[in-house]
Amino acid sequence: MNDTIESLMQGIRGGGLRVIDLTQPLNSNTPIIELPPQWGQTPGFTLKEISRYDERGPFWYWNSFETGEHTGTHLDAPAHWATGRDKSTVDRIPVSSFIGPGVVVEMREECRANPDALLTPDHLHRWESRYGEIPAGAWVLARTGWGDRFSDAAAYKNAGEDGMPHVPGISKEAAELLTGQRDVLGVGVETVGTDAGMAGTFDPPFPNHNIMHGAGRMGLTSLANLDQLPEAGSVVIALPLKIEDGSGSPARVIALVAG
Ligand code: MN
Repeated sequence: MNDTIESLMQGIRGGGLRVIDLTQPLNSNTPIIELPPQWGQTPGFTLKEISRYDERGPFWYWNSFETGEHTGTHLDAPAHWATGRDKSTVDRIPVSSFIGPGVVVEMREECRANPDALLTPDHLHRWESRYGEIPAGAWVLARTGWGDRFSDAAAYKNAGEDGMPHVPGISKEAAELLTGQRDVLGVGVETVGTDAGMAGTFDPPFPNHNIMHGAGRMGLTSLANLDQLPEAGSVVIALPLKIEDGSGSPARVIALVAG
């Protein structure tokens, strides 16, 4: 066997690499984004049993499911956003672009104090002062602690007295830096979308979607278990379904870490 493949497999089989599941469960309670009523709404996840070792199929169990493309832990393709309309749909992204080094940006403490916190260039510069320049092809992951709220829909949405969701996100300036001065695959978050809860009121609206997808980059949302990743040194693998002409897809996202 090739040496690189052999050492990778030895690492995974108890030889110093851990495989972390960064994926939240899909079920009828999986939180989905709710848009103002004038816009089309996404269905949540619904599982429907076809047969389960019974008269409908004595030897087998299987289900069908309905869901929007942007449900649960999922990948946003560049073509998800109007600015990326000429860029890749989920089936046309080269599979090597689903794999990249994890750059984990620590934000938990400030998100506890301020749920509207944004990941800014200051966070990225702080990360780079410790670990060096954000590597090409990285997934930049905002570790906000929000994944801990996933099973509590109200806490996850965090509606304020104004009725608006107060949820952290990626700033316009950080998206500009990551697309203009660095060469990342995209960003990942623990929240329902890569933009902050209030980002519909920003200029431009939803600046991370606008800039990241306009530059042909991707998004990962509703990630889990980011607390198990080191700030640097992991490999993140995010695999969406190959939906032809799809704008995104639920994904199984995993990471390899040393230890
Ligand atoms: Mn999405």
